[in-house]
This record gives sequence, structure tokens and C-alpha cells, in this order.
Amino acid sequence: MARHNGGVSAAANPTPAAELDPTLAALLKRDADGLVAAVIQDDDNGAVLMLGWMDDQALARTLTTGRVTFWSRSRQEYWRKGDTSGHVQYVRSVALDCDGDALLVRVEQVGAACHTGDRTCFDARPLSAVQGSAPASDEPDGPAA
Ligand SMILES: [Zn+2]
Repeated sequence: MARHNGGVSAAANPTPAAELDPTLAALLKRDADGLVAAVIQDDDNGAVLMLGWMDDQALARTLTTGRVTFWSRSRQEYWRKGDTSGHVQYVRSVALDCDGDALLVRVEQVGAACHTGDRTCFDARPLSAVQGSAPASDEPDGPAA
């Protein structure tokens, strides 16, 4: 399998432990499992690519290595996106939301973000939804004419 990760093949070597800034750690509102949701967004076009989960360690690694690291709830281990698939996510920016319970990570995405091969995890299952729209604001304060 071709790899294009800058010549460093570290699939068998998870990134070393990183330290999360205590000030940042104090802002995180983790769920019962100690995790915060991380929305992954394509920095080039704004597409929402996928959602993953991070604990303090995964976030620290993401902030300090330039590569997105998640905590896998199913495998109970850290996983660095792209180590097995080659579909690397390079960190462009990271933001914490207003409540402290979600992260937005903007990335340079190599290849498909979804393990199914789709560009995003939301490509395959559009749901039928009634569309709403804001009412026309022709009379904000009663009759104007
Ligand atoms: Zn997916």
C-alpha cells in the first residue's frame, strides 16, 4: 500500500504521551467516559467530514503533533487517523465550543475521511427532513404602510 505521510511510517508507534495545558483541561466538559466530541471539518471547503471522540490525552496529542488523534470507544485505544488507512488528517486549527463539550478541528484531509471510502461520514445516509424557513419579515412592528 502506498503511503504518503512524509516518509515517516509510524503505524506501529503511537505518538508519545503529551501533556494537556491545565488551563485548557479545566475548561473541558467531558462526558461520563471522560470524552469530548470532536467535529472534523475540511479546512479547504468547510465540509463536515466526521465526528470522533477525544479524551485529554488525544486532545493533547492532536494539539502538539499536527496529526489528529482520537480515542476509539469500540477498541478502547488511541488511534491516529491515517496510520492504517493512509487517510491522514493534518491539523490546521482547533477550537473549543462555548460549553466546553465539543471541539472543532479543521484539517487538511488526505483521501477519504470515512472508513467506508466516502469523502465524509455523512455522504451515504441523507435523511428525509421537512425544510423550514424563516417567516417573511414584512411587518416587524405592525403595519408600516
Ligand atoms: Zn465514517
